[in-house]
Amino acid sequence: MTSLLSAKQLLPILLLCISFFFMASPLHAQEVVVYSARMEQLIKPMFDAFTTETGIKVKFTTDKEGALLARLQAEGKRTPADVLITSDAGNLWEAARAGLLKSISSPILEANIPVQLRDPQGQWYGLSIRARTLVYNKEKVDPSELSTYEDLANPKWKGRLCLRSSKKVYNQSLVAMMIAEHGEAKTEQIVKGWVANLATEPLSDDTKAMEYVAAGRCDVTLVNSYYYGRLMETSPNLPLVIFWPNQENNGVHINISGAGVTQHSKHEAAAIKLLEFLSSEKAQNLFADVNFEFPANPQIKPSPVVTSWGDFKKSPMNMIKAGELQATAVKLMDRVGYR
Ligand code: FE
Repeated sequence: MTSLLSAKQLLPILLLCISFFFMASPLHAQEVVVYSARMEQLIKPMFDAFTTETGIKVKFTTDKEGALLARLQAEGKRTPADVLITSDAGNLWEAARAGLLKSISSPILEANIPVQLRDPQGQWYGLSIRARTLVYNKEKVDPSELSTYEDLANPKWKGRLCLRSSKKVYNQSLVAMMIAEHGEAKTEQIVKGWVANLATEPLSDDTKAMEYVAAGRCDVTLVNSYYYGRLMETSPNLPLVIFWPNQENNGVHINISGAGVTQHSKHEAAAIKLLEFLSSEKAQNLFADVNFEFPANPQIKPSPVVTSWGDFKKSPMNMIKAGELQATAVKLMDRVGYR
C-alpha cells in the first residue's frame, strides 16, 4: 500500500487547489456594473478602453437620471450597480443626499480632479465640465451689448430673451450658484428681470431655445455649451455665436457630469478603478470630446472644436452649492413666475 502523502508533498497540491478556487470564484471574474444617465454612445468607447486596459468587464444600463435614482433606491442592498454616472452636480448631490453613494478615497482621483469639481466626502467626482453660457444671434446682437448673466435682467433685453424651463436641473443649479454668489434677494431681482424680458414662454430644451434665437424669435439665450457644439455640427450655417459672460468678475458658470460608487457596490475596488481610469489622461478626452465638453482633469486639453470657442474665465464656485441651494433656487424661480 502506498504511504500517505507527507505534509511536504501535500503543500504544492494545496496551493494548486487554492489558486483554482480563486480563479473560478466570482471574485476573480472581475466586472463592474454601471447605471448611466449618459447615453450609450457617450460612454461605451471609454468602457471598452477600460476593459482592454484592465481586463475588467463593464456591464451598463442607461436611463434618465430620475429613473436610475428611483431604481437604486428601490433595489437597496440588492442593487447590482457599482457606479452611478449622471450629469449635473445637482443630480449627484441629490444621489448622495439620498444615501445612494459611498464615500471613497483615492489619491489618483484627488490628483486628477480639482477640489471644486468633487464632493468633499468623496461621494462623487466630476469627470467633464460644461459651461452654462450665452448664445446669441449675430444678425441681431452686437457682442458689445452682452456682458453678464445679471445684465440679461436689464430692460434693454425686453422681448429679446429665451430661456429653457425652470423644471430642468441645469437652470436650478445655475440659480443655486447665483444665490451662493449674490445672496437670495439680489438673485431674486435678477431672475425676476429675466422673466420680464422673455420673448416666449420658457422652452422645453436648450436646443429649442437656440433654434428660437436662430429663427429670430428672440436674440439671446442661456445654454450648456455642448448643445451649441451639437447644433452647430449639424447646422453650421446658423447665425449663432457663443459668448462667455462675467469675464470681468466671477467668470462663467460651470457644471459637471460625473460619477460615484454606489452605497451597496459589490465590486468596490473595480468601481474605484473605473473612476480612476475615467479621470486619467487616456479616458478624459474620450469622456469629454464625444459630447463637446471640457475635460475635468486640468492636464488635458479640450477638443479642437471646443478650443475654437475661445478661452474663458470659469467661476471658482464649488459644485456642492448647486445641490445645497437647489431647493432654495426652485422656490425662488417659482416665486418670480419662472415656469
Ligand atoms: Fe444635457
